[in-house]
Formats: sequence, C-alpha cells, structure tokens
Amino acid sequence: MERLNSIDQIPERFLEINYRDIKEVFESPTLIRLKGDKEPALFISILLHGNEFSGLQIMQEILKKYQVDGSYDLPRTLWLFVGNVEAASLGLRRQDNELDFNRAWPGTPHPEAPTAQLIAEVMEKITENGLFAALDLHNNTGKNPPYGCISIVNEKNKYLSSFFNHIGMVFHTPKGVSTMAFDEICPAITLECSTPGNPLGIEKAVALIDDLMHMEHFPDKALPEHDLQLVYNSAVLKIAEGVTFGFEEEQGEFELTLTNNFDRHNFTRLEKGEVFAHTTIDKPIIATLENGTDITDDILINENGALSLKKPLMPAMITLDKRIILQDCLCYLLEEYREKR
Ligand SMILES: [Zn+2]
Repeated sequence: MERLNSIDQIPERFLEINYRDIKEVFESPTLIRLKGDKEPALFISILLHGNEFSGLQIMQEILKKYQVDGSYDLPRTLWLFVGNVEAASLGLRRQDNELDFNRAWPGTPHPEAPTAQLIAEVMEKITENGLFAALDLHNNTGKNPPYGCISIVNEKNKYLSSFFNHIGMVFHTPKGVSTMAFDEICPAITLECSTPGNPLGIEKAVALIDDLMHMEHFPDKALPEHDLQLVYNSAVLKIAEGVTFGFEEEQGEFELTLTNNFDRHNFTRLEKGEVFAHTTIDKPIIATLENGTDITDDILINENGALSLKKPLMPAMITLDKRIILQDCLCYLLEEYREKR
C-alpha cells in the first residue's frame, strides 16, 4: 500500500512545478498542513485525478500570494491533499490497477482497497479539529463552464456554489466521492474548473479560496434565489452499441449524425422538438437514469429520422471526442433542481 506522506511545510519547488514532474517533490500522496491565523482549517484536495491539473495551478497561485520570506502568512489554516501523484506523473486520470482516488472516500463500496485506506488516514487527520469547508478541485473535458457540485442542498453549500458560478449541480452518486464524505462535517463542494488549465476556471477557484481564507463565517442571510441555478443530472445519453456516428461537418455516412457544433448546446436549454441529430435507424441513442433504468422512450422522439427531446432539458458534459463518447457517454441531460419547501 502507498504510504501517506504527511508534512507541515511546502517545498519551494512545488510553487513552479508542472504536474507531470510532481513526483520530484512528492513521491507519494501527500497531506500538508500549513498553519494560518484563523481556525478551523480549510481543506483542499487536488490531483485526485492525475491529469486534471488546474488544482495544482490554483494552489500555486494561492500560495505565491501569501508567501513572505520563504514561509507563508495564511489568513486561515490550510490542509492541502495532493492525491494521485503517480497518475499525474503519467498524465493519466488514474492507473488501471487502482481504485479511483475520487471513489475511495468514506461511503465507498471498496473500503478494503489500498487507496480507500490511504484516504481514511487523510480523513482521520483533517477532521481532528473541525473544518471550515472542504473543496475538491477537478477538471472535465469539453466546453463546460466552471461549476460546483454539491451533494447536500443547504445555505452554506449554496453559498459555495454561487460564489464559484451562477450554476451549480446537485449529485448523490457515485458513492465514495470526496465531497459526499463531508456531508455531516462541513460545507463541501467539488469545483469543476472547466478543461485543464482553463484560465476562467482557475480565476474563479482562486477567488473562492481567497474568500474562504478571509471569511470569519458564512453569511447568515439566505442566498437570494436568482443568485444560483441548481440543476441535477436527470439522464445520461449513450450511443447504442455498434451504431456508427459522426458530426454533420464531417465527411461520411453514419447511422447517427449529430448536428453542426453539437457542443454549442452545452449548458443551454435544448427545447422540446428541437432537432439535434438525424438517424437512419430506430434507436441510435439510449437514455438512462443514473441507476441504469432505460428511459429512452420517455424523453427522446424519433420523427422520420429527426431526433429531439420530449421535454426541455439542458445537455452538459458534451465532448466531441469520439473516443470519450464511446468510453463514457455522449452527454448528460440536466434538469432544474427544485427544493422541497
Ligand atoms: Zn475529476
């Protein structure tokens, strides 16, 4: 099992290093505690997915900002967990033979896995004296705006989401994700900082972290409703097995052809009846709920080969990379989250 490296200072070189060279400063997953003026501490995890390197750049920017004469003058105590350094050095999300670092937190179906045991050690250390908030920094593929993901809808989590962007996502699966492990402990959010290195995602995350460093407490007033649009994942769209597919702007004959600039639909409402693809077969796309239930006939309509939705939904996580589409999915369909009052 990989050993957790636990330290209370930052090597100077960490501030400049490229994620692919991270093992030159940390040979194994590393938990750093930096003492600051205020308690309780802010917990931030980066590189749980090795190739999502914005988190590293964000923390380099934050640390540089508070560096004074070779040490750090932080307004609040900070825990920083640098996760899958091995995968980062290989430029991968994770290694094939290990449990995903973001499926290994308390609640994981695989608590016996070495990664889960390492994470349990992290949890034990960071929760000893309470936490102000927990942030997990990620990237995704495709033209997605930066957005936060929260698993519990309460005022503090809504505040975290709204400060990052005007749109936030509510999620409850898969099990073992970092943010869910903090449900009973402190406000917690996953920051999806757009594609790796995306400047807007970095800028927004830096601003949020800086704010949390200085805040005495979360605002007491409820968040105005129009400050945040919360959505949840209502369905996943996958290409049916064996179906040939392509994009309108491409040469070739496909059983499924997605309209021009398909990714322009990302995070915008796709109206009922708005055609987004053409097909020569009956069911080229399968829609399922998160639990796998097939709901294709409930939400998709195929009218003489023109595909559209039966109700307005918001596609997200669209990628134009055919390899990712086949491995993962074509896109998610989001629906507005309504709180029960
Ligand atoms: Zn990730």
